[in-house]
Amino acid sequence: MDLHTVETLLRPTRLDELPPWQPGMAWLAGGTWLFTEPQPQVKTLVDLQRLGWDELAVTEAGLVIGATCVMSRLVEAEFPEQWGAIAALRRGVHALASFKVQNVATVVGNLCLALPAGTFAPVMMALGARYEVLSPGGAAWIEAVDFQTGARRTILQPGDVVRRVLIPREFLTWQTTYQRICVASAGLALAIVVTAYNPMTQQVRVGIGAVSPAPKLLTFAGMPTAEEVAIALNTAIPLEDCIEDDQASATYRREMARVLLGRSLAPFYGPTRS
Ligand SMILES: Cc1cc2nc3c(=O)[nH]c(=O)nc-3n(C[C@H](O)[C@H](O)[C@H](O)COP(=O)(O)OP(=O)(O)OC[C@H]3O[C@@H](n4cnc5c(N)ncnc54)[C@H](O)[C@@H]3O)c2cc1C
Repeated sequence: MDLHTVETLLRPTRLDELPPWQPGMAWLAGGTWLFTEPQPQVKTLVDLQRLGWDELAVTEAGLVIGATCVMSRLVEAEFPEQWGAIAALRRGVHALASFKVQNVATVVGNLCLALPAGTFAPVMMALGARYEVLSPGGAAWIEAVDFQTGARRTILQPGDVVRRVLIPREFLTWQTTYQRICVASAGLALAIVVTAYNPMTQQVRVGIGAVSPAPKLLTFAGMPTAEEVAIALNTAIPLEDCIEDDQASATYRREMARVLLGRSLAPFYGPTRS
């Protein structure tokens, strides 16, 4: 849709070309969310596309996803076969409610939008990702687990921009599963469970989305029993923190997370499971 309140479009090639941040300015990445609803508060769009921040790069530190890297590149790019983490990233792309959006929407835009049912936040938490945030005062790396604080809320202050995501190399070889349930296949999820498992140490990290306003991380030092899973889930997401809306009750969402968690872990249990 047209954004009738927008008076100015800035297309910087460097951040220092920008005027000081003012109320009414908004970063524009793929625009797949920005242009789908009225944005009466937005007067100036700052397009990120010319900044050259679209890298999808393998570095010594790990996998780097630049701020304007579109989701579909995660599906198209080739990665080492032993990188089990890629499966969760690709499932995150396919889980998006609209396949038409995948070639335009950015991974970072998805994280910054911070929907409770955001497709990538649980993946990034399970994979120990960090985000580089540029502020007027400098740059800082923020853990994925600390980034989203609620529904459409993050730690970003006005004028802050996420420059890139880093998934540390040590997590790229973890095995992953991505489980999701929703009322209709093209609807927003009621529960998302992303599990990362280290076959060497048996450590497990689980990102849970869509159950509470902000995603949650569960960690286990070894393969948990069903009882340990239930206790960890209920502690991390008390019923009063679960989303209750016309799609599903709080109880249903959390119960679905428990069921999906059981399914996620099933492939990783060895034959000696008691
Ligand atoms: C039909 C349809 C279905 C959708 N289904 C889903 C779904 O299933 N799951 C889901 O999670 N989302 C869904 N979305 C929402 C949205 O399209 C995606 O979340 C998408 O990934 C947003 O990325 P974008 O690059 O288009 O962001 P934009 O629309 O450009 O921006 C989104 C927000 O993030 C901010 N932003 C963007 N980049 C940065 C940055 N680098 N630093 C700071 N702030 C930034 C923008 O200012 C804006 O507030 C859907 C949208 C549509 C139209």
